[in-house]
Amino acid sequence: MLKVTEIFPSIQGEGAWTGLPATFLRLSGCNLHCEWCDTKSSWNEAAARTMEVAEVATTVRRLNQSTIVVTGGEPALQMPRLCELIRVHGGGRFWHLETNGTLHVVPGMFDWVTVSPKPPEYKIHESLRGNIDELKFVITEFEDLGLVLRFTNRYRYSNLQYVCLRPLDNNIVMAKYIVDWLLMAELKGRKWRLSTQVHKTLGVK
Ligand code: SF4
Repeated sequence: MLKVTEIFPSIQGEGAWTGLPATFLRLSGCNLHCEWCDTKSSWNEAAARTMEVAEVATTVRRLNQSTIVVTGGEPALQMPRLCELIRVHGGGRFWHLETNGTLHVVPGMFDWVTVSPKPPEYKIHESLRGNIDELKFVITEFEDLGLVLRFTNRYRYSNLQYVCLRPLDNNIVMAKYIVDWLLMAELKGRKWRLSTQVHKTLGVK
């Protein structure tokens, strides 16, 4: 059984795949309770719909998108059932995991892994080292940028393709500050970029 908050079609609103149509599978429960979380409704496991893995697969199939974004809450809390969903029913689709990075993720199970580490520790589980395609940071105050840079330089992420900086609540002042910082910070390579939440700008889910 999987505890599900919602399954819906939309576009990916942030990060490397912004604008891509996808089915979103939002699982219930989170092991962190960030005060600025914008999906607090997913914390309430008591309100979740408990669904058989096959029923989730059928719903996902009906929505007929080639990309499935598994998000939350924290989807890694339900890793065994999630693996069953992908192994048994997942063929031919692109499985994208969005996780806070603190829990075990089975290496190689997902086609794309986005980790959004949370301050102040920015903890990342061992299983994700070398298994992250995208890091996404919510920037709540200017000081976060220095922390994020130090954190990202501290580790080697062999698969890492993008580091996305997202201003909290699409704050325009913070977004412009991030742009200035990106231009000034002498960042090596082409990984770093600003990411706003396009779905919120458009008023879609
Ligand atoms: S880890 Fe993500 S889903 Fe969980 S409380 Fe923090 S922002 Fe919300």
